Amino acid sequence: MCIICIDLAKGALTGRDARRHLGEMRGKLGEEHAAEVQAKITEAEKAAAAQKP
Ligand SMILES: [Zn+2]
Repeated sequence: MCIICIDLAKGALTGRDARRHLGEMRGKLGEEHAAEVQAKITEAEKAAAAQKP
């Protein structure tokens, strides 16, 4: 868990913003968690896309 996961879970980050944060924080998160965050962003974007009319 990191700030990106927390904000994604709250719906406080768009996929685009989350990707930008991930780019900035990737080195701190490590590759393993970066991959998990990437998957969460993909899920969040799918959910957001599904909500649009
Ligand atoms: Zn995280």
